[in-house]
Amino acid sequence: MSRAFYVTTPIYYVNADPHLGHAYGTSLADTLARYHRLAGEETYFLTGSDEHGEKIAEVAASEGTTPQSVADRYSNAFRETWETIGFSFDQFIRTTDPHHCDVVQTILQRIYDAGQIEFREYEGLYCVGCERFLTERDMEGGKCRDHEREPERQKESNYFFKMSEHFEWLAETLEARPDLIRPERYRNEVLGMLRDESGLGDLCISRPKTRLDWGIELPFDSNYVCYVWFDALINYLTGIGYPDGPNFEKYWASAEHVIGKDILKPHAVFWPCMLRAIGLPPYRHLDVTGFWNVEGRKLSKSLGNAVSPLALKERFGFDALRYFLLRDLAFGSDSDFTEAALVRRINADLANNLGNLVSRTLNMTARYAGGTVPEPGPTGPDEQAIAQLAATTAAQVDESVRRCEPHHALECIFALSDAVNRYLEEQAPWKIAKEQADGWEKRVATTLYTSCQALRSLALLLAPFLPETAPVLLERLGIPDALESARLPDDAARWDALAPGTPTQKGAALFPRIEIEKSN
Ligand SMILES: [Zn+2]
Repeated sequence: MSRAFYVTTPIYYVNADPHLGHAYGTSLADTLARYHRLAGEETYFLTGSDEHGEKIAEVAASEGTTPQSVADRYSNAFRETWETIGFSFDQFIRTTDPHHCDVVQTILQRIYDAGQIEFREYEGLYCVGCERFLTERDMEGGKCRDHEREPERQKESNYFFKMSEHFEWLAETLEARPDLIRPERYRNEVLGMLRDESGLGDLCISRPKTRLDWGIELPFDSNYVCYVWFDALINYLTGIGYPDGPNFEKYWASAEHVIGKDILKPHAVFWPCMLRAIGLPPYRHLDVTGFWNVEGRKLSKSLGNAVSPLALKERFGFDALRYFLLRDLAFGSDSDFTEAALVRRINADLANNLGNLVSRTLNMTARYAGGTVPEPGPTGPDEQAIAQLAATTAAQVDESVRRCEPHHALECIFALSDAVNRYLEEQAPWKIAKEQADGWEKRVATTLYTSCQALRSLALLLAPFLPETAPVLLERLGIPDALESARLPDDAARWDALAPGTPTQKGAALFPRIEIEKSN
């Protein structure tokens, strides 16, 4: 039986249009999904929208409309944007789907019956942005750290999930499974939260309807709705058919959640404790990404300095945009988005390195080998080094993707492309063809054969990262169907797989250089 792989994006909150940060998280999950599919694993890719909670109710009130219509509008905006961009998700889930609401109520009732939920009176400082009571750690200078607004003092009777009963287990699990949360600094952050007893307690999971009625009603008390995070996290189960769908059995053990660091606590603390209370094992990995800043400002739905992913795709192309996002942001760290940096990346890596290699190799193959992959002459250490590097690169890419380090995978792929460019410079087939010394044709054939084999490996390895470009390159190499049967990483490591005589095609530049007008 083949292995399974289940990847999710965070479900996106529907109070603003999709921005660059959302496109980054979805690009990352999409790349992981595509890679695992090409590795022959049965893959399920879930994205969607998170639609309950106070902020949606606030937007609706300010617009004089209903929360459902606000949710519909933004949920459609996300789904349509992701479809237009070309992400390969299997399902777009909405937390207002009746089926999801049923599953949330089933789980609430089960945890309640198991004595894991308690009714208590609580007084504290409540942040409308966070939709929860804050602890001291959440505040700075009397304001919520995330929302830069003052919380309100409130007293309420509410239902609490006895989350703290699971903290010891969670800390032990994090110690025993160092790659459960990656990169490591976020795991350490969570262990710190668990050690610091003042920081975390039980989780308030209800909101009185007198204050908020936009949510899923508690099955055991109709005066309350469910806290939005408790409802939203459960989408990862609903999406694969919990409790009794066949996909649930197949996929849950391989679950990998891609999230931004701003939602670490719900995913790294609330969620594993909830899963334990439900009687399920934790996910396999939590992949935590950093933030994109734009001109030094955090990109977020609350602060609103959004960059439209669709506009960027239209200007630069989807592959160039996702290449930049995945390559420039070291997984887990923050990075600054500027158009100049994007253009530099496109020009240096995609146009000058990869694009140049493709056009040189295919133009010379047309010119000196009649437009087919030539029959090589004897190979030497230079050719063997390239073949060896292709195999090493395939292994490194596999390892990097499985560690969720796409920037490192891309670094390795482009180092291979760079090495083949240098090999071409050293062999200088154009010079050999011009000088026409004895045996020149065989030497040129060997060089071009080697370059063509390397291009095949590069195209296969790039397919999950540059899903529009890789098929074009494979078509020019005369193997348009290669992705249908390819298995990564082994097929990318296979040398001599492109048969001599295979017809190749020149073509327009894959990534034309972008000229930026200099301002004086
Ligand atoms: Zn807040």
